[in-house]
Amino acid sequence: MTFKALVVDKLDDGSTSASVRSLDDSQLPDGDVTVAVEYSTLNYKDGLCLGPGGGLVKTYPHVPGIDFAGTVEASRDARYRPGDRVVLTGWRVGETWWGGYAQKACVKADWLVPLPDGLTSRDAMAVGTAGLTAMLAVMALEDHGLKPGAGPVLVTGAAGGVGSVATAILARLGHEVAAVTGRPETANYLESLGASRIVAREELAETVKRPLESETWAGCVDAVGGAMLARVLGQMKYGASVAAVGLAGGATLPATVIPFILRGVNLLGIDSVMRSYEDRLRAWRRIASDLPMDTLHAMVQPATLADLPDLGKAILKGEVRGRVVVDVN
Ligand code: NDP
Repeated sequence: MTFKALVVDKLDDGSTSASVRSLDDSQLPDGDVTVAVEYSTLNYKDGLCLGPGGGLVKTYPHVPGIDFAGTVEASRDARYRPGDRVVLTGWRVGETWWGGYAQKACVKADWLVPLPDGLTSRDAMAVGTAGLTAMLAVMALEDHGLKPGAGPVLVTGAAGGVGSVATAILARLGHEVAAVTGRPETANYLESLGASRIVAREELAETVKRPLESETWAGCVDAVGGAMLARVLGQMKYGASVAAVGLAGGATLPATVIPFILRGVNLLGIDSVMRSYEDRLRAWRRIASDLPMDTLHAMVQPATLADLPDLGKAILKGEVRGRVVVDVN
């Protein structure tokens, strides 16, 4: 039996090349559950794994795709049976294990989550790792006391994948959302997701000059990191929290401890890759209930396996808006 996959090869000069090829079932990794993949998606990390960047992929040829949704075809694990609808995010699938840019994937049963009622496999990939992470970030802010009415909640990298889903969820939950973007042309899009205020990236681009500025934000989902995160910490209201999700703007944090020790600001780290099964289930259920599906569909750009090499380059340059959904068939 053969299936179609996007395969990345490493060339002699150290560069990589990606192409759609036919693979044999016997080439699949040795997992417990074989899934007929229906949809995958594109996340920032996929952009790295589609090219030579990042050092995330250790062996070639490689099939990227850090998440997928589909139907179980065969299972050696009692928890899954043929016909079950499943979704996978994280566990370094698509990095150290062949991923979702293929019509078939074979993975460990522990890594799968049953698709929650009310979501199709396409919906699940419109959410994808980026959207799941946005939900985990919102849940962390709630666990630390964020409630609607507390004041504006900032979302950085708002027109990207994590930012778009975070904006839509927060607005649906009744929060006033301030969306930071470096692309002014996305203002209408962000307002359609529920943002009530657009903040230009330049406003937060300068490095910290004063460790405390006026108390402005009741919470923040930060996909950007770097100097912007440092700046935002000094603008948080007393006792408020920032959920740090990403590093689209840089991995260093040129900040002071002053916001933590004088204003009780919390910096909450969000990892989606190694999250427990229970946390994933809880987050997927919250997505099914708290993310308006019409808004989700409005942020989707459809794609095929053949489109991915170009899209991978675009997401690394911050040029992809919202969520890309890849129909692998
Ligand atoms: P996207 O590329 O879709 O979104 C990132 C957004 O950040 C861009 O759209 C852009 O938004 C903004 N941005 C890009 N470059 C810069 C810059 N130099 N300075 C300021 N803003 C910038 O990526 P994702 O949403 O998929 O991922 C966002 C981040 O979250 C990535 O760093 C990713 O690695 C991380 N991530 C972490 C996860 C975890 O488990 N912790 C899981 C998923 C993602 P705009 O144009 O609106 O300014």
